[in-house]
Amino acid sequence: MPLTLERQRHRTWRAVLPWAVGALPLLCGLVLLEWQVERNLHERSVATARQVVNHVERILDSVSAAAKILAPLAGRPCAEVTLALREQVTRNAFIRSTNLFANDILYCSSLFGAIHEPVEATRYTEGQLWLMDGNTVTPDHALLVYRTHQAGRGVLLTVDGDHLITALQLIANDEALQIQVGTHWMGADGRVHLSKPPLTGSTPISLYSSRYPFGVHGGYRAHQSLRTLYSHYPALLALLCVIGTFIGMTCHWQLRRASSSRSELDRALQADEFTPYFQPVVRTSDYRWAGAEVLMRWQHPREGLVSPDLFIPYAEHSGQIVPMTRALMLRTAQGLAPYAAFMDEGFHIGINITADHCQDFTLLDECRAFLGFFPPGRVLLTLELTERKLLEVTPMTLELFEKLHQMGVKIALDDFGTGQSSLSYLRQFNIDYLKIDQSFVAMIGGDALSQHILDTIIELSRKLDLAVVAEGVETEAQRDYLARHQVDLQQGYLHARPMPLEAFIQALAARSSSGRLPPDTPAAIMPG
Ligand code: C2E
Ligand code: CA
Ligand code: CA
Repeated sequence: MPLTLERQRHRTWRAVLPWAVGALPLLCGLVLLEWQVERNLHERSVATARQVVNHVERILDSVSAAAKILAPLAGRPCAEVTLALREQVTRNAFIRSTNLFANDILYCSSLFGAIHEPVEATRYTEGQLWLMDGNTVTPDHALLVYRTHQAGRGVLLTVDGDHLITALQLIANDEALQIQVGTHWMGADGRVHLSKPPLTGSTPISLYSSRYPFGVHGGYRAHQSLRTLYSHYPALLALLCVIGTFIGMTCHWQLRRASSSRSELDRALQADEFTPYFQPVVRTSDYRWAGAEVLMRWQHPREGLVSPDLFIPYAEHSGQIVPMTRALMLRTAQGLAPYAAFMDEGFHIGINITADHCQDFTLLDECRAFLGFFPPGRVLLTLELTERKLLEVTPMTLELFEKLHQMGVKIALDDFGTGQSSLSYLRQFNIDYLKIDQSFVAMIGGDALSQHILDTIIELSRKLDLAVVAEGVETEAQRDYLARHQVDLQQGYLHARPMPLEAFIQALAARSSSGRLPPDTPAAIMPG
């Protein structure tokens, strides 16, 4: 993939991620709140529907009481009973008209007196209730007709639809409820429909009367939950927005920091600001310099000399450590090679490498190129692999280490004692040196237990038949203790601190048998 496209993709990803991360708590919070609000609304709808059912039942109870009074009059001549019919209309607030029928013929009405109209019994749900959309007196005005009958005679009582509308509008003002009687239903607008009631709302509910053949359907209105959310929880919503913004901005800031660290390291690499420092490794037998460990420093244009602890962890994390090490090896070889004469045969040069560097065979070429700068056999290149982050044992890594060994490159296990390497790990990679971590060396002179740990590590190294380097030797007591325990090599401030190339070459020249620097030596290296 072309580099520009790759960069473009990374840029888009970095622009989108903070928004996504910021939106996540907002969305999660909204989903939780919405769930809570819906639950509350649903419970409220059920309670409201129950209230409507109770209210209509109370109306019908009152109507049924009137029907019981009038039922014995059914079949009697209309002129005799008209007054009694009208009396019930006057007495009962819910009843609009009272009617008597015999043999399915409506023959007497509180409104018209004697009439003659057929009664269609099949229209009544369970023979008892009919929700009408109006009659000849008030067309398009809902009516609920209550019917009782015995032996072909009976009573029809009409309830004005307004009473039902009032129940739907006043009790259920937030919900969209409908009253259903058989195949008819009506909503709060009072219009009667011949169909199944539409089950509105997010979580529709249906409640039926246990005493009369009607039911109440519906639920809270669509968007009601969102409206409740905004009106009831403004503070919580604002808090969610603030949290989302904070997290999004933190993510944006972190990404910017990461990308700026990366580009800052890239810039430093291009500007050749990573420079090698050298810390001598001395032989315990005679304290002569057996070699040196190369330690990276960042010669920052503004910050000055930066310690590796401040940038190596990030470079390892971002993968930039590989090109940085490659550049450091080249700079080390170019810097040291002209003074190879001052080095004893097999002078150790230790380079710290990471597991990432061992994922292909390019390390072989880099080591070959490094050794190519020196006369054959003059330098013994040692790759230091830390025990803290162990390299995975794979056919590829095993082959790589096999080939490195064939080339004469040695492998040291750095910070030994702090990780989890096993005996088989040491064997499989054919480790040549163990570098005992300085924390163990610092235990010398400490309590018995600490001393015992160090002794065990030294003893283990000896049993494994590996050469041992002790790091962080700072005192004479430590130096002598390690000498008594036949630790082959030592490294630490007591012997020498890490130093820049010029100081290292001068010190090396001073120790060599000739002691003279070549005539073309740069002024910086020439002794003042
Ligand atoms: P390390 O590989 O264990 O290197 C030894 C560290 O101990 C160095 O720290 C050295 O200056 C310090 N040291 C040596 N003698 C003494 C002593 O007597 N007392 C004390 N207190 N410290 C001593 P430095 O140079 O700051 O490096 C720190 C770490 O950074 C190194 O630990 C290594 O893990 C990493 N590092 C340095 N250069 C490179 C590099 O080029 N590549 C990689 N991957 N890591 C590097
Ligand atoms: Ca090291
Ligand atoms: Ca170490």
